[in-house]
Amino acid sequence: MTVTHRIAVVTGSGRGIGAETAKQLAQHGAKVVVSDVTMALTEETVHAIQEAGGEAIGVAADVSQRSQVEALFSTAMERFGRVDILVNNAGIIRDNLVYKMTDEDFDAVLNVHLKGTFLCSQAAQKVMVPNQYGRIINFSSTSALGNRGQVNYSAAKAGIQGMTKTLSYELGRYGITCNAVAPGFIETDMTRATAARMGVDFEALKAAAAKEAAVLRVGVPADVAHAVLFFAADESSFITGQVLYVKGGA
Ligand code: NAP
Repeated sequence: MTVTHRIAVVTGSGRGIGAETAKQLAQHGAKVVVSDVTMALTEETVHAIQEAGGEAIGVAADVSQRSQVEALFSTAMERFGRVDILVNNAGIIRDNLVYKMTDEDFDAVLNVHLKGTFLCSQAAQKVMVPNQYGRIINFSSTSALGNRGQVNYSAAKAGIQGMTKTLSYELGRYGITCNAVAPGFIETDMTRATAARMGVDFEALKAAAAKEAAVLRVGVPADVAHAVLFFAADESSFITGQVLYVKGGA
Protein backbone atom coordinates (compact mmCIF):
# COMPACT_ATOMS: atom_id res chain seq x y z
CA MET A 1 0.00 0.00 0.00
CA THR A 2 1.94 3.00 -1.28
CA VAL A 3 1.27 6.45 0.15
CA THR A 4 4.92 7.47 0.34
CA HIS A 5 5.46 11.22 -0.08
CA ARG A 6 1.74 11.76 -0.54
CA ILE A 7 0.18 14.74 1.24
CA ALA A 8 -2.85 13.79 3.33
CA VAL A 9 -5.44 15.93 5.10
CA VAL A 10 -7.30 14.06 7.85
CA THR A 11 -10.21 15.89 9.48
CA GLY A 12 -11.13 15.26 13.11
CA SER A 13 -7.76 13.59 13.64
CA GLY A 14 -7.17 14.85 17.17
CA ARG A 15 -8.45 11.59 18.56
CA GLY A 16 -10.21 8.33 17.80
CA ILE A 17 -10.20 6.77 14.35
CA GLY A 18 -8.92 9.97 12.72
CA ALA A 19 -5.84 10.09 14.96
CA GLU A 20 -5.02 6.45 14.23
CA THR A 21 -5.52 7.00 10.49
CA ALA A 22 -3.20 10.01 10.53
CA LYS A 23 -0.55 7.97 12.36
CA GLN A 24 -0.81 5.00 9.98
CA LEU A 25 -0.60 7.26 6.91
CA ALA A 26 2.55 8.84 8.39
CA GLN A 27 4.03 5.41 9.22
CA HIS A 28 3.64 4.54 5.54
CA GLY A 29 5.49 7.70 4.49
CA ALA A 30 2.72 10.24 3.88
CA LYS A 31 3.01 13.82 5.17
CA VAL A 32 -0.07 14.55 7.20
CA VAL A 33 -2.14 17.65 7.91
CA VAL A 34 -3.78 16.81 11.23
CA SER A 35 -6.94 18.87 11.52
CA ASP A 36 -9.48 19.25 14.31
CA VAL A 37 -11.76 21.93 15.74
CA THR A 38 -9.03 23.45 17.89
CA MET A 39 -5.25 23.54 17.53
CA ALA A 40 -4.84 22.07 21.01
CA LEU A 41 -6.73 18.94 19.89
CA THR A 42 -4.29 18.33 17.03
CA GLU A 43 -1.14 18.51 19.16
CA GLU A 44 -1.10 14.97 20.55
CA THR A 45 -1.42 13.36 17.11
CA VAL A 46 1.17 15.69 15.53
CA HIS A 47 3.56 14.99 18.40
CA ALA A 48 3.08 11.20 18.11
CA ILE A 49 3.79 11.30 14.35
CA GLN A 50 6.89 13.46 14.79
CA GLU A 51 8.16 11.27 17.65
CA ALA A 52 7.93 8.27 15.31
CA GLY A 53 10.01 10.14 12.70
CA GLY A 54 7.12 11.23 10.48
CA GLU A 55 6.09 14.64 9.18
CA ALA A 56 2.88 16.38 10.27
CA ILE A 57 1.41 19.79 10.96
CA GLY A 58 -1.68 20.70 12.96
CA VAL A 59 -4.39 22.99 11.56
CA ALA A 60 -7.55 24.05 13.38
CA ALA A 61 -10.71 23.92 11.24
CA ASP A 62 -14.38 23.33 11.84
CA VAL A 63 -15.37 21.32 8.77
CA SER A 64 -18.90 22.76 8.76
CA GLN A 65 -17.59 26.29 8.11
CA ARG A 66 -16.63 27.11 4.50
CA SER A 67 -14.12 29.83 5.44
CA GLN A 68 -12.30 27.50 7.86
CA VAL A 69 -12.20 24.66 5.35
CA GLU A 70 -10.77 27.00 2.69
CA ALA A 71 -8.16 28.21 5.19
CA LEU A 72 -7.28 24.58 5.99
CA PHE A 73 -6.56 23.80 2.34
CA SER A 74 -4.67 27.10 1.86
CA THR A 75 -2.40 26.19 4.78
CA ALA A 76 -1.86 22.68 3.42
CA MET A 77 -1.00 24.09 -0.02
CA GLU A 78 1.36 26.73 1.41
CA ARG A 79 3.21 24.13 3.46
CA PHE A 80 3.27 21.16 1.06
CA GLY A 81 2.33 22.50 -2.39
CA ARG A 82 -0.40 19.91 -3.02
CA VAL A 83 -2.98 17.65 -1.40
CA ASP A 84 -3.22 14.03 -2.62
CA ILE A 85 -5.40 12.39 0.01
CA LEU A 86 -8.43 13.69 1.91
CA VAL A 87 -9.93 11.69 4.76
CA ASN A 88 -13.35 13.08 5.75
CA ASN A 89 -13.40 11.60 9.25
CA ALA A 90 -14.65 14.46 11.50
CA GLY A 91 -17.86 13.62 13.28
CA ILE A 92 -20.20 14.19 16.19
CA ILE A 93 -23.26 12.46 17.56
CA ARG A 94 -26.37 14.10 19.05
CA ASP A 95 -28.55 11.02 19.58
CA ASN A 96 -32.21 11.16 20.54
CA LEU A 97 -35.45 9.44 19.64
CA VAL A 98 -37.26 11.20 16.83
CA TYR A 99 -39.96 12.66 19.08
CA LYS A 100 -37.32 14.38 21.22
CA MET A 101 -34.88 15.37 18.45
CA THR A 102 -34.34 19.14 18.37
CA ASP A 103 -33.69 21.19 15.24
CA GLU A 104 -30.31 22.16 16.74
CA ASP A 105 -29.19 18.54 17.17
CA PHE A 106 -30.48 17.54 13.74
CA ASP A 107 -28.73 20.46 12.04
CA ALA A 108 -25.47 20.06 14.00
CA VAL A 109 -25.02 16.45 12.89
CA LEU A 110 -25.98 17.13 9.28
CA ASN A 111 -23.66 20.14 9.18
CA VAL A 112 -20.57 18.36 10.47
CA HIS A 113 -20.96 15.05 8.62
CA LEU A 114 -22.76 15.85 5.39
CA LYS A 115 -21.95 19.50 4.77
CA GLY A 116 -18.44 19.04 6.18
CA THR A 117 -17.77 16.18 3.76
CA PHE A 118 -19.11 18.30 0.89
CA LEU A 119 -17.07 21.40 1.80
CA CYS A 120 -13.81 19.50 2.30
CA SER A 121 -14.29 17.43 -0.87
CA GLN A 122 -15.06 20.56 -2.87
CA ALA A 123 -11.93 22.30 -1.56
CA ALA A 124 -9.86 19.14 -2.16
CA GLN A 125 -10.96 18.57 -5.77
CA LYS A 126 -10.01 22.16 -6.56
CA VAL A 127 -6.37 21.41 -5.76
CA MET A 128 -6.41 17.75 -6.90
CA VAL A 129 -7.81 18.26 -10.43
CA PRO A 130 -4.76 20.25 -11.70
CA ASN A 131 -2.53 17.35 -10.52
CA GLN A 132 -4.80 14.71 -12.10
CA TYR A 133 -4.51 12.72 -8.87
CA GLY A 134 -6.52 12.33 -5.72
CA ARG A 135 -7.92 9.96 -3.12
CA ILE A 136 -10.99 11.01 -1.16
CA ILE A 137 -12.11 8.69 1.63
CA ASN A 138 -15.41 9.44 3.33
CA PHE A 139 -16.82 8.11 6.59
CA SER A 140 -20.20 6.45 6.50
CA SER A 141 -21.39 4.01 9.18
CA THR A 142 -23.50 0.90 9.65
CA SER A 143 -26.02 3.44 11.02
CA ALA A 144 -26.62 4.49 7.38
CA LEU A 145 -28.92 1.44 7.30
CA GLY A 146 -30.91 2.87 10.24
CA ASN A 147 -30.30 2.93 13.98
CA ARG A 148 -32.68 3.71 16.81
CA GLY A 149 -31.98 7.15 18.31
CA GLN A 150 -29.99 8.35 15.31
CA VAL A 151 -32.47 9.89 12.88
CA ASN A 152 -29.95 12.70 12.25
CA TYR A 153 -26.76 10.61 12.13
CA SER A 154 -28.24 7.79 10.01
CA ALA A 155 -29.52 10.32 7.45
CA ALA A 156 -26.10 11.99 7.29
CA LYS A 157 -24.24 8.69 6.94
CA ALA A 158 -26.63 7.45 4.22
CA GLY A 159 -26.23 10.81 2.48
CA ILE A 160 -22.47 10.37 2.53
CA GLN A 161 -22.85 7.10 0.60
CA GLY A 162 -24.76 8.95 -2.15
CA MET A 163 -22.23 11.75 -2.14
CA THR A 164 -19.39 9.23 -2.44
CA LYS A 165 -20.91 7.68 -5.57
CA THR A 166 -21.54 11.10 -7.14
CA LEU A 167 -18.01 12.32 -6.43
CA SER A 168 -16.61 9.12 -7.92
CA TYR A 169 -18.58 9.70 -11.15
CA GLU A 170 -17.65 13.37 -11.40
CA LEU A 171 -13.98 13.15 -10.44
CA GLY A 172 -12.81 9.81 -11.89
CA ARG A 173 -11.79 11.42 -15.17
CA TYR A 174 -9.28 13.55 -13.26
CA GLY A 175 -7.55 10.60 -11.62
CA ILE A 176 -9.43 11.15 -8.37
CA THR A 177 -11.11 8.22 -6.63
CA CYS A 178 -13.74 8.57 -3.92
CA ASN A 179 -14.68 5.73 -1.60
CA ALA A 180 -16.23 5.34 1.83
CA VAL A 181 -15.61 3.23 4.88
CA ALA A 182 -18.64 2.31 6.98
CA PRO A 183 -17.51 1.20 10.43
CA GLY A 184 -19.57 -0.83 12.84
CA PHE A 185 -18.95 -0.63 16.60
CA ILE A 186 -15.47 0.82 17.12
CA GLU A 187 -14.07 1.45 20.59
CA THR A 188 -13.63 5.26 20.78
CA ASP A 189 -14.87 8.26 22.77
CA MET A 190 -17.88 8.31 20.42
CA THR A 191 -19.09 4.85 21.47
CA ARG A 192 -18.23 5.68 25.11
CA ALA A 193 -20.59 8.67 24.78
CA THR A 194 -23.28 6.36 23.37
CA ALA A 195 -22.96 4.09 26.41
CA ALA A 196 -23.22 7.09 28.73
CA ARG A 197 -26.34 8.34 26.93
CA MET A 198 -27.97 4.92 27.20
CA GLY A 199 -26.99 4.70 30.87
CA VAL A 200 -25.18 1.40 30.34
CA ASP A 201 -21.70 0.30 31.32
CA PHE A 202 -19.27 0.66 28.39
CA GLU A 203 -17.80 -2.82 28.88
CA ALA A 204 -21.32 -4.31 28.86
CA LEU A 205 -22.16 -2.42 25.65
CA LYS A 206 -18.94 -3.67 24.06
CA ALA A 207 -19.67 -7.26 25.09
CA ALA A 208 -23.17 -7.05 23.59
CA ALA A 209 -21.79 -5.61 20.33
CA ALA A 210 -19.04 -8.25 20.21
CA LYS A 211 -21.64 -11.02 20.42
CA GLU A 212 -23.30 -9.64 17.27
CA ALA A 213 -20.05 -9.78 15.26
CA ALA A 214 -18.87 -12.87 13.37
CA VAL A 215 -15.38 -12.27 14.74
CA LEU A 216 -16.78 -11.98 18.29
CA ARG A 217 -15.10 -8.66 19.09
CA VAL A 218 -15.70 -4.96 18.58
CA GLY A 219 -13.44 -2.92 16.34
CA VAL A 220 -10.53 -0.68 17.28
CA PRO A 221 -9.44 2.46 15.39
CA ALA A 222 -6.58 0.56 13.69
CA ASP A 223 -9.13 -1.74 11.98
CA VAL A 224 -10.72 1.24 10.22
CA ALA A 225 -7.44 3.06 9.56
CA HIS A 226 -6.25 -0.02 7.69
CA ALA A 227 -9.28 0.13 5.37
CA VAL A 228 -8.71 3.86 4.80
CA LEU A 229 -5.09 3.18 3.85
CA PHE A 230 -6.22 0.61 1.30
CA PHE A 231 -8.37 3.22 -0.48
CA ALA A 232 -5.68 5.90 -0.07
CA ALA A 233 -2.94 3.87 -1.74
CA ASP A 234 -1.51 4.66 -5.19
CA GLU A 235 -2.41 1.09 -6.21
CA SER A 236 -6.16 1.63 -5.63
CA SER A 237 -6.69 3.75 -8.77
CA PHE A 238 -9.28 1.33 -10.25
CA ILE A 239 -11.42 1.23 -7.11
CA THR A 240 -13.92 4.07 -6.78
CA GLY A 241 -17.49 4.70 -5.62
CA GLN A 242 -17.29 1.83 -3.14
CA VAL A 243 -18.55 1.56 0.43
CA LEU A 244 -16.53 -0.85 2.56
CA TYR A 245 -18.23 -2.02 5.75
CA VAL A 246 -15.67 -2.52 8.50
CA LYS A 247 -17.76 -4.32 11.09
CA GLY A 248 -16.31 -7.74 11.80
CA GLY A 249 -19.18 -9.48 10.05
CA ALA A 250 -21.80 -8.07 12.41
P1 NAP B 1 -14.38 10.69 18.04
O1 NAP B 1 -13.44 9.89 18.86
O2 NAP B 1 -15.49 11.43 18.69
O3 NAP B 1 -13.52 11.66 17.11
C1 NAP B 1 -14.13 12.55 16.21
C2 NAP B 1 -13.23 13.74 16.00
O4 NAP B 1 -13.89 14.66 15.11
C3 NAP B 1 -12.98 14.49 17.31
O5 NAP B 1 -11.63 14.83 17.44
C4 NAP B 1 -13.85 15.71 17.14
O6 NAP B 1 -13.44 16.86 17.86
C5 NAP B 1 -13.76 15.96 15.65
N1 NAP B 1 -14.79 16.88 15.22
C6 NAP B 1 -16.06 17.00 15.67
N2 NAP B 1 -16.68 17.99 15.05
C7 NAP B 1 -15.80 18.55 14.19
C8 NAP B 1 -15.87 19.62 13.27
N3 NAP B 1 -16.97 20.36 13.12
N4 NAP B 1 -14.76 19.91 12.54
C9 NAP B 1 -13.63 19.19 12.69
N5 NAP B 1 -13.52 18.17 13.55
C10 NAP B 1 -14.59 17.84 14.29
O7 NAP B 1 -15.11 9.75 16.96
P2 NAP B 1 -14.64 8.43 16.19
O8 NAP B 1 -15.35 7.30 16.82
O9 NAP B 1 -13.17 8.39 16.03
O10 NAP B 1 -15.35 8.67 14.78
C11 NAP B 1 -14.64 9.06 13.60
C12 NAP B 1 -15.56 8.89 12.41
O11 NAP B 1 -16.00 7.53 12.33
C13 NAP B 1 -16.84 9.73 12.48
O12 NAP B 1 -17.18 10.20 11.21
C14 NAP B 1 -17.86 8.72 12.97
O13 NAP B 1 -19.17 9.12 12.63
C15 NAP B 1 -17.40 7.49 12.26
N6 NAP B 1 -17.88 6.24 12.86
C16 NAP B 1 -17.50 5.87 14.11
C17 NAP B 1 -17.97 4.67 14.65
C18 NAP B 1 -17.60 4.20 16.03
O14 NAP B 1 -18.11 3.14 16.45
N7 NAP B 1 -16.74 4.89 16.77
C19 NAP B 1 -18.82 3.86 13.90
C20 NAP B 1 -19.19 4.29 12.63
C21 NAP B 1 -18.70 5.47 12.10
P3 NAP B 1 -14.03 17.12 19.34
O15 NAP B 1 -13.13 16.37 20.23
O16 NAP B 1 -13.97 18.59 19.51
O17 NAP B 1 -15.46 16.61 19.33
